[in-house]
Order: sequence, then C-alpha cells, then structure tokens
Amino acid sequence: MRECKSRASLFVVIALVAGAASAAAEAPRLDLVWVDPTDLAGGTFPALAAESRALLATTGAQVTWTAAPYGAVVGPESLVVIAVPTYATEANRDRHVMGSTRATADGPLAIWIFPDQVAWALGLDLSLRRGWGERAEMEFARALARVAGHEIVHALGITTHSPGGLMAARLDRDALTAAVLRIDRATLAAVRLAFDRGARSAAGPWTLASLRGPTFTAAAEMRAAPGSSH
Ligand SMILES: [Zn+2]
Repeated sequence: MRECKSRASLFVVIALVAGAASAAAEAPRLDLVWVDPTDLAGGTFPALAAESRALLATTGAQVTWTAAPYGAVVGPESLVVIAVPTYATEANRDRHVMGSTRATADGPLAIWIFPDQVAWALGLDLSLRRGWGERAEMEFARALARVAGHEIVHALGITTHSPGGLMAARLDRDALTAAVLRIDRATLAAVRLAFDRGARSAAGPWTLASLRGPTFTAAAEMRAAPGSSH
C-alpha cells in the first residue's frame, strides 16, 4: 500500500519535469559564447553574463552564456561575442565605436565589442585598470553587458535604434551604469516577432541557426558618448 503511494507521487514528479522540459523546448534559445582573446575584460565574465542574461530574458529567450578560448569550435546555433581592442586607426579612435555586428557567410555569427571604448564612455582609462577599484570594475562589467546586449539585439535582425533604453543609438555613462536599463516595447515586440517567424520556418524552437542565410543583413555599430566623470 505504502509502496503504491510512493510510486504514484514519483509518477507525478516525472510528469511535472517532463512538462517543464517541453515548455522550455518551445522557448527561443540564445546561445552566447564569450571570447576575450587578450584578456581585455578579464574577470568581468560572471557579472557580464548575469547582467546581459537578465536584460535579454525579457525577450522571452532562454539565454545561456559560455566562456570559450579563442579559436574554440562554435556551432551554427551560437553567437560569439568577441572582446577586441579598437582597430588602431585614428579615425576609429575618434569615432569611439563600442560595439559592432557582422554576419559571416559560413563562420559563426559574431559581434565585436571594444572594451577600451566602453571604459572611455565611463570616463575610465582601460590602460589604468589596475587602479580602478571595485565600483569601477562593477560598472565596467555592467556596461560591457549592455553594449553586448545592444549588439546582440542587432544580430537578431533589429537594425533600428530606439529613442531610449538599451537600443538608443548612443549609450552614455548614465545609461551604461544605471541600476536598470530596459529594452523598449517596440524593440521587444520586433524581437519576439523575429523569434516567431524563425520558429515557424524551423522544425523545432528558434535558435540562432535560424538567422543564417541570405536574409541576414544586420550590420550596425554603436558609438560612445564621452564619459561624464572626467
Ligand atoms: Zn546600435
């Protein structure tokens, strides 16, 4: 009698787990891979991943982050976020681009972020990072997450900017460090529509692999506004 009861409750637990798994399988999957080949933003990954996961979760996607060594093999369903120094031309330095999005024909989808420019937008000098202190480090990680989040939304096919929030054309120190920075409603609606369209044309849930092919055209870069704490 007792055994029967426990079997019955075990069955219920299994049914609940199975239900949860199938619900999760329906959610779009945003599989993100962090690559920082020269350790420009070393130590920021846990905070960066947590912040951008929270930011992008509002799109309804199931967001996963992995840190990978440079040159790691990445599948078609992943997007690589690469931290690189600003390309060393004077024009680039003056333009203060914090991040950019590119599609490659056969390689993994990738976005680039430029930690030196993100630091500049915060009024910090990346070459003096050793003396920054805890608060500056926390703000740096948060700002990197937001620049990455902005470019990831572009990579999802949203090429336009919004008057405010994460998808503003310029993110200044206040936006990069505010306790909360949201994705505006119009952008959220556009991202969800892109997920739905992709899911309809695929057999399973939406993944980044849905973005591959001739329709993927996102190419945008975001420039920094000068740091206000100089
Ligand atoms: Zn942008």
